[in-house]
Amino acid sequence: KRAFYIGRFQPFHLGHHSVITSIAEEVDELIIGIGSAQKSHEVNNPFTAGERVMMIRHALEDIDVHFYALPIDDTLQNPIWVSYVTSRTPPFDTVYTNNPLVIELFEETGVKVKQPPMYHRNEYSGTEIRRRMLEGEEWKHLVPDAVADVIEEINGVRRLRRVAGTD
Ligand code: ATP
Ligand code: MG
Repeated sequence: KRAFYIGRFQPFHLGHHSVITSIAEEVDELIIGIGSAQKSHEVNNPFTAGERVMMIRHALEDIDVHFYALPIDDTLQNPIWVSYVTSRTPPFDTVYTNNPLVIELFEETGVKVKQPPMYHRNEYSGTEIRRRMLEGEEWKHLVPDAVADVIEEINGVRRLRRVAGTD
């Protein structure tokens, strides 16, 4: 059994980690799609695809699943997005997502979609973590330690503040 899980992972946080931990018990292989891969250095998309690959690789070292983390650029037209995704990924039979557009696009093409439970959605949220980074509040406890290390290595908080224009 091979499954597909997609997110922007700006950044990869403990909500994503919890979801993947539970998916890993149900599947043999997991394809992790890194969405909006072409975007970076924006206030809502600060990290590059390569940096997000690195976050995921290090964060999942403790999880026993064979995974592929693959950058997926946005398409200009939503109706071709599913065929674009499947042209760039190993074949899969199930999609795990809570994103309404992703659910709609896959279900229209007859792919089975499962919606994983949300974990502490108020805090385990990319939007909340980026807000905390900008405001100078605590955020490292909301991401795997390995992700905090990557963000430090790339000076990610400084970048986010600069592209937000708040320096
Ligand atoms: P943003 O606020 O930037 O949209 P996000 O926290 O929603 O970030 P995404 O990368 O958009 O993160 O999410 C990828 C997938 O993970 C989506 O299907 C999303 O619903 C799911 N997800 C996000 N946060 C959680 C969470 N706390 N628990 C479970 N699933 C989550
Ligand atoms: Mg989201």
